[in-house]
Amino acid sequence: ATPTALLVGSGRGAQLGVLIRGPEVLERTRRVDTVVLDKTGTLTTGRMTVQGVVPLGGADADEVRALAAAAEHDSEHPVGRALATAGVARAVADFTAVAGGGVRARVDGETVRVGRIGWLASEGVAVEAAGPAVEAAEARGATAVVVARGDAALGVLEVADGLRAGSADAVRRLRALGLEPVLLTGDNAGAAHTIAEQAGITTVFAGETPEGKLARIRALQQEGRVVAMVGDGVNDAAALAAADLGIAMGGGTDAAGAAADLVLVRDDPALVATAVRLARGTLRTIR
Ligand code: ADP
Ligand code: MG
Repeated sequence: ATPTALLVGSGRGAQLGVLIRGPEVLERTRRVDTVVLDKTGTLTTGRMTVQGVVPLGGADADEVRALAAAAEHDSEHPVGRALATAGVARAVADFTAVAGGGVRARVDGETVRVGRIGWLASEGVAVEAAGPAVEAAEARGATAVVVARGDAALGVLEVADGLRAGSADAVRRLRALGLEPVLLTGDNAGAAHTIAEQAGITTVFAGETPEGKLARIRALQQEGRVVAMVGDGVNDAAALAAADLGIAMGGGTDAAGAAADLVLVRDDPALVATAVRLARGTLRTIR
């Protein structure tokens, strides 16, 4: 491809809402045959709302909400933003976000954790009592997180968001170009399959840590596939960097944007198909 043609392709991409990072990116875009999509914030809106609270062991529901809000006060994650309510009247210190797991902070001097049940268990929290409420939420297709103080689980919060308006159409457009869509998420299988069904995706990998996401990308590549990964979160950054083509949602985190080859200016997953068509068209005219 001539430098001029690539420049024209990049210019056209920018007009369409696709920022192309570097001259060799269009060639890689053209060769993609598999498109792996993150769920939360990519196929879904990422605007999660709280659907329910289940207090455990005599805890107070309002206290569970208040502790979660305090611990998530500085969270960037869609789950955290749903739980963080304005005006927390608690002393919060030592906030740590664990990608694909949850958050840990000291609230009024005590360690509070909010996150997925498996992560809390790995942190030494006694999560057994939370199991039934977590399973019930997941069976409804929601995301369930456990709130713990010290090593005691105090409650389960259920959050959910919806499919982006353009996601099902975006998946249809990928298939029309001969690309196979795959859903890859850190969220639970129930939530993953609910969204996959709405989006029209049949290949689903759920419950993956950021390292697990990376391993899935590598395994697909070892099958001989040329893999694009589309994501928005800190938890997607390693997978975006490992993919043959990393694509970041424009409204996503800085970490995702920095790891990507293509950045979608609008949070519209249909721009993935637009980029592939552009790459195919640009490189055909200049051969
Ligand atoms: P996704 O792949 O859907 O974007 P992540 O890998 O970011 O999901 O997160 C996986 C799971 O980890 C979430 O579904 C949630 O249970 C938990 N989690 C991640 N971040 C947070 C947070 N800030 N607060 C609570 N739970 C979280
Ligand atoms: Mg995400």
